[in-house]
Amino acid sequence: MKLAHKVSIITGAGSGQGQAAAVLFAREGSSIVAADIDEDGLKRTEALVREAGGDILTVRCDVSKAADVQAMVRRAKDACGGIHVLYNNAGVLHPKDGYVTDLDEEIWDLVLGVNLKGMYLTCKYAIPVILESGGGSIINTSSLGGLKAGASTAYGASKGGVISLTRNIARQYAPTIRANSICPGPVDTPMMVVAAKKAGPTGGTQGKGPMLERWADPGEVAELALYLASDSSAFVTAANFVIDGGLSAI
Ligand code: NAD
Repeated sequence: MKLAHKVSIITGAGSGQGQAAAVLFAREGSSIVAADIDEDGLKRTEALVREAGGDILTVRCDVSKAADVQAMVRRAKDACGGIHVLYNNAGVLHPKDGYVTDLDEEIWDLVLGVNLKGMYLTCKYAIPVILESGGGSIINTSSLGGLKAGASTAYGASKGGVISLTRNIARQYAPTIRANSICPGPVDTPMMVVAAKKAGPTGGTQGKGPMLERWADPGEVAELALYLASDSSAFVTAANFVIDGGLSAI
C-alpha cells in the first residue's frame, strides 16, 4: 500500500475530488482526516471510507477561519499522533465572480479567503506537525483558471496565487516537506455545474474538451494526488501538474 501508516488531512473532503481522494488514500493505507464545512458531505465521505475499510476522523472546519484550522490540526494530531500528508483541496467558484469592474469586494474576499488564505492557514498550522512527524507531502489544488485568462477574476487570482504559495512552501521547508500544486481542467463534480452555468452554452471549459472529449472523473485527479502524496514522487517538489485532458495545449 502506498500510504501505509500515514495520516492525511484532506480539505473539502465532503464532495467531489476531496471525497474521491479520501476513499483512494484510505484504500492505500492512510488514516484520513476529512475537513469540510459541509457536514452532510462529511457523513457521506465517512461512510464511503469505512466501506473501503479505512479509518477516518471528520472535522467541520472552515479553512478561511484560523480558529477552525487550528482546532482541526490539533484534533488530527491528538487523534492520529501526527500528520504526513496535507491535501489542500477545498475551494469555491462563486456564481457572482466576474469581470474586475463588476466584482463585489465581498465576493473577492470570500473567494480569496477560502481558495488562498485557507491554504496559508492550513500550511501555517499543519507544517509544524508535519515536521515533528518526520516530514511529508503537501498537495495544493490550483486550476487551469490559475494559468489561463478567464472571466472569473477572484477565482483566477486565487488559483494563480496557489501555485506561487506552493513553490514558496516547497523552498522554505525542503527537504523535509515536499509541496506541489495541481491544475485540473474540467472535473465532473458539483463545482463544474456552477462553472458550466457561468460560462453559458458557448464559453469557458464547459465543453467536453478538444482531445479526450470528456470531463475528468474525480477519481482520476485523486490518482495524481496519490502519486504526489506517496514516495513514488520522492524527487518531485515545487512543481505544478496540469491534468486537463489536453485542454490547455490547444
Ligand atoms: P466540489 O464543489 O465538489 O468540492 C469542494 C468542496 O470544498 C465542497 O465539499 C465544499 O463544501 C468545500 N468547501 C467550500 N468552502 C469551504 C471552506 N470554507 N472550508 C472547507 N471546505 C470548504 O468541487 P471539486 O471539483 O471537488 O473542487 C475541489 C477543488 O478542485 C477546488 O479547489 C476547485 O477549485 C478545484 N478545481 C475544480 C475543477 C472542476 O472542474 N470541478 C477544476 C479545477 C480546479
